[in-house]
Amino acid sequence: MTEFSTRAIHSGQEPDGATGAVIPPLHLTSTYVQDGIGGLRGGYEYSRSGNPTRDALQTLLADLDGGVAAFSFSSGLAGEDALLRAYLEPGARIVMGNDVYGGTHRLANRLHVPWGVELVTVEMSEPDRVRAALADSPAKTVLWVETPTNPLMKIADIETLAAIGHEAGALVVVDNTFASPALQQPLSLGADVVVYSTTKYLGGHSDVVGGAVVLRDQELADQVQFVQFGGGAISSPFDAWLTIRGIKTLSVRMERHSSNAQAIAEALLAHPAVEHVHYPGLPEHPGHAIAAKQMSGFGGMLSVALAGGPEAAKRFAESTELFALAESLGGVESLIGYPSEMTHASVKGTELAVPENVVRLSVGIEDVRDLVADVQQALDR
Ligand SMILES: *Cc1c(COP(=O)(O)O)cnc(C)c1O
Repeated sequence: MTEFSTRAIHSGQEPDGATGAVIPPLHLTSTYVQDGIGGLRGGYEYSRSGNPTRDALQTLLADLDGGVAAFSFSSGLAGEDALLRAYLEPGARIVMGNDVYGGTHRLANRLHVPWGVELVTVEMSEPDRVRAALADSPAKTVLWVETPTNPLMKIADIETLAAIGHEAGALVVVDNTFASPALQQPLSLGADVVVYSTTKYLGGHSDVVGGAVVLRDQELADQVQFVQFGGGAISSPFDAWLTIRGIKTLSVRMERHSSNAQAIAEALLAHPAVEHVHYPGLPEHPGHAIAAKQMSGFGGMLSVALAGGPEAAKRFAESTELFALAESLGGVESLIGYPSEMTHASVKGTELAVPENVVRLSVGIEDVRDLVADVQQALDR
């Protein structure tokens, strides 16, 4: 079992020892009987500290990214919070992209800064600025990289940033939610930790909220595990089971997401109502060469700036029929959103604000002809 798509189906998922069930059972139990005090049958005593269905998912997630361990959480932000709590201390610094996921910025800014952590935001596609932001960094410093970014699809060079981060003694974290491990492998590019909102492509069907942290250092993994257990933001067995089910098709979904998004990007580019298309698969995208180097596909997310300004953007977002107007992303169904009043409303007026003529598309895996026709009819209105 060496290839990614094979591991996505089999890793951590041996047939059930008791029954031969091919699919890992859904262990909906809070506790486990003991044969005498401390006589645990399978090493499990209480489902906050351990559950076989969650373990199956965690084994799978660690394997897919080549980590020593992975931990799954009740949401992407719960996982990010656990990682930051495990690693940081008062006086520490977080250097973060200036267009990271808004909830990540809020987590650091509103929940960690008050504990004495310094937060610095910087343009991640310019390595010199990152180096400057890391100058004189304290012993505990996190370099937080997200690529591609949301919703402007900026690309950061993981290998270069990991080297810059390590030079400064920082822990290099990559939020790999947009690419998924099927298209991008941050640990192999030098990162120390990968985080996910598994709500998105890993789950893949818009039916579960979850998060994951994958690590390559056992000591930090033990600390994250302690926060998962001690803080308790675990994923439920059912959420873990749904996520495992989603991951089985991750490879084929990402291929189709990528080819559909490429076709939509090209169709948008050719339309007179469009001012700019942000998609790393387009040769004119400023991050195209880096994306081609570090990703095995360009993914299913793109955004488009409309020539007609905010009114045209809102009209477009409200005029598609197949693309449903909704927050979130990464499911098999296509979604469309107006970031400045939806996903990114909370960062309006800050440096994270999204231009008001931008519409974001999460391109699903429907037939591309229907998707292109839908986008075109909506733009023609
Ligand atoms: C959605 C998202 C998160 C947060 O995950 P939740 O599961 O909503 O808590 C973090 N990072 C990125 C890039 C996301 O898209």
